[in-house]
Amino acid sequence: MILTLKSDTTPQQLQELTDYLTNHRIQHTSIERSHLVVLPKNNAADLAEHFSCIESATHTTQPFPLASLEWKQQTHVAVGEHVIGSDDFSVIAGPCSVENEEQIYAVAEYLHSRGVPYIRGGAYKPRTSPYSFRGLGKKGLILLHQAAKTYNLKVVTEIMDLRLLDELMEYADVLQVGSRNMQNFYMLNELGKLNKPVLLKRGMQAKAKEWLLAAEYLLTGGNQHVVLCERGIRSFDSDMRNVMDIGVIPFVKQLSHLPIIADPSHGTGSSSRVTAMAMAAAAAGSDGLMVEIHPTPNLALSDKQQALSFEEFDALLERLNALLPAVHKKAPTQSGVFKLQTL
Ligand code: PEP
Ligand code: MN
Repeated sequence: MILTLKSDTTPQQLQELTDYLTNHRIQHTSIERSHLVVLPKNNAADLAEHFSCIESATHTTQPFPLASLEWKQQTHVAVGEHVIGSDDFSVIAGPCSVENEEQIYAVAEYLHSRGVPYIRGGAYKPRTSPYSFRGLGKKGLILLHQAAKTYNLKVVTEIMDLRLLDELMEYADVLQVGSRNMQNFYMLNELGKLNKPVLLKRGMQAKAKEWLLAAEYLLTGGNQHVVLCERGIRSFDSDMRNVMDIGVIPFVKQLSHLPIIADPSHGTGSSSRVTAMAMAAAAAGSDGLMVEIHPTPNLALSDKQQALSFEEFDALLERLNALLPAVHKKAPTQSGVFKLQTL
């Protein structure tokens, strides 16, 4: 149950309410900056009659009340002048890792020419082996930021650790929480205190409802700017890097108001399958895509098997232009389609 408090509720009134709940052993959480008190169970039905500071009580049945559709119809996450989760189909693209100035400027220039508003790129990379390329660190972050600024793009990049928060707050527009950190509850708690958009990737072993509970951590901190990203889950099939769970897109839409996008690059692990799964995700109702691209995929320092070339990405955008009207979405450009030289 979610209690909405009147906007003029005093700290004392809130204290009286929470004291009452504590004394009656009713679990509750006050949401920062929101005038909300969440009760994970609907066990205080007549509360509003006893506390005049309560404006309304919304009954919820899901274990993630704030993320649930019972609470809200649709969240729109604003990133500057762009919105994720609206009729716009949000495309985020860029290399797995920022490698050097030439590479990231080439990607930024290309994305700008196509009307793609977001650039991605890891500066701090989670790598399975410590001997793999682990990113340029702060230098990469600054390069990404400068390239994005030059071409009027928004930056999406991963936060690996809270010690990097100050840097990322300065240089990123959207903080990506990677698959390996989806259940880093301490980190989620801290990111929940921010006003910065968070892209929460699905843990590679996470059930959909565990993922929504991770989102709930961000929401209970008062950060409402949460976007989910399906990136494939582990399975028994060793031929697949991950298994892209397209079915989770409509499933999440049945449960939650949070926007959900799809990452077919990590979801398939192979550039030969990225376009098919990108189209499938869009058709299934995804609010956008995150795709790895590279000026010279075979030379990429990380995830080269799954990076699309600019030509391949052009072909994907062209197919998206044809599909989006059928799913009532449009590219976030003036014309509503991605700009292609061939058009
Ligand atoms: C990435 O987007 O580069 C990445 C590391 O993704 P994931 O956390 O989904 O593995
Ligand atoms: Mn990658």
